[in-house]
Amino acid sequence: MPTTVSDALIITIDGPAGTGKSTVAAGLARRLGLARLDTGAMYRTVALIAVRAQIDPADTPALLAALAAHELYFDCTVDPPVMSLDGEDVEPHIRSARIGEVVSEIAAVPEIRRAMVHMQQATARAHPRLVSEGRDQGSVVFPDAQVRFYLTADPNERVRRRVAQLEADGASVDAAKVAAEIDHRDALDAGRDTSPLRCPDGAVEVDTTGMSIDDVIDALERTVRETVGSAC
Ligand code: C5P
Repeated sequence: MPTTVSDALIITIDGPAGTGKSTVAAGLARRLGLARLDTGAMYRTVALIAVRAQIDPADTPALLAALAAHELYFDCTVDPPVMSLDGEDVEPHIRSARIGEVVSEIAAVPEIRRAMVHMQQATARAHPRLVSEGRDQGSVVFPDAQVRFYLTADPNERVRRRVAQLEADGASVDAAKVAAEIDHRDALDAGRDTSPLRCPDGAVEVDTTGMSIDDVIDALERTVRETVGSAC
């Protein structure tokens, strides 16, 4: 049966770095047959534009001019979804330590956020059955989503997970540097004026410490099925 607007189902997953959001969002989307939106990839792509053009992240006019000169597109019709910049799949470039260093400063710029939120809401209009993950999805971008989650985990476990993920991607990793990067990003993401990282009012908070990825996906899937019933 074709999807209709009444079938719309938006699920949001927010939380700090290293809580497993991306992997969990991917698994949940597959189980429920939903598209997936990785909003961190969008901010990372803006950071990539800035790094490539050697723009100071504090230079908002230059950042906005550079953003206007490029085309960002998040294709969630494929699995895994593809983040593209002027047609280039940027996945191999947006997870580097350099991007991690600057992305949160760039993501704190209100005009950049406005542009990203616009793109995210447009994606949801085109794909109304969607799992969207990030920092502000349940609080700002989709406050009326049917189910909103907020994932947390013990800080040491978050670092361990991040290290394991980077090593699995073939990177050589210094755990102390990863811990410092996570701390730095968390402080900027939670401390910014526009859309700071926080648990959205009324969201289902899940402490994932000690849980396997499959356990977390099981728990979220149960909550979704209990909450929306036949809509999934
Ligand atoms: O999710 P990920 O760790 O890839 O996000 C990278 C950065 O992008 C975050 O640390 C944050 O600064 C920014 N971000 C954001 N809002 C979102 C998603 C990501 O500010 N919705």
